[in-house]
Amino acid sequence: MISGEEIAARLRGLQKEIPQGVNLVAVSKFQPVEAVRAAYDAGQRRFGESRVQELLEKIPQLPADVEWHFIGHLQTNKVKSLVGKVALIQSVDSRRLLELIDCEAAKKDIVADVLLQVHVAREETKFGFSPAELLEFMDSHIYETLKNVRIRGLMAMATNTDDNTVVRGDFAVVAGLFRQLRESSGLKNFDILSMGMSEDWPIAVDEGADLIRVGSYIFGSRN
Ligand SMILES: *Cc1c(COP(=O)(O)O)cnc(C)c1O
Repeated sequence: MISGEEIAARLRGLQKEIPQGVNLVAVSKFQPVEAVRAAYDAGQRRFGESRVQELLEKIPQLPADVEWHFIGHLQTNKVKSLVGKVALIQSVDSRRLLELIDCEAAKKDIVADVLLQVHVAREETKFGFSPAELLEFMDSHIYETLKNVRIRGLMAMATNTDDNTVVRGDFAVVAGLFRQLRESSGLKNFDILSMGMSEDWPIAVDEGADLIRVGSYIFGSRN
């Protein structure tokens, strides 16, 4: 594990590089609570986790003003324990999941903020709506009947490659969908485009991302 001072220094360096108007999610998945605490002490408040169990264990160990984001694949049987615990579920990858979150949020009498995850990467293993599925779903306007979810925008990952042309192309596709849906969906709060990780966030920001998710650059490699 890298030291708390090192984490603080990396965060400060990163915050200097990130343009105004772009927000940082520090991805703390698989990192010990002490590492998250070091980032918190350095001023970071927004953290991303990808497993419900790990998130639920960390929440009570950190101050209440942490803004937690869920960024991993959400299994339907975990929806109940997640809804109400996080500021933003970034990884809604199916209509069924969106409906389940709505249902659970209704039971808890809250409105859950979510992003729809778009699959543009060339890897087959990544979750999300394909661009065609996303447009079809949004065209259906089914989401208008879901009163307890607020679709805030899109989240995506680029292909895992050193070829920046491919990465930029992936981000450009998602940014194009985002702008199109912001115009056509009629959703009032559709204003978050979450793209970019340790290796590719400058390209994502260049293509229009306003929320980036950086893990290993801040915390070092994961256990
Ligand atoms: C792990 C993860 C990240 C952070 O990746 P790094 O390469 O460590 O910055 C960002 N987004 C998602 C969805 C992730 O699962």
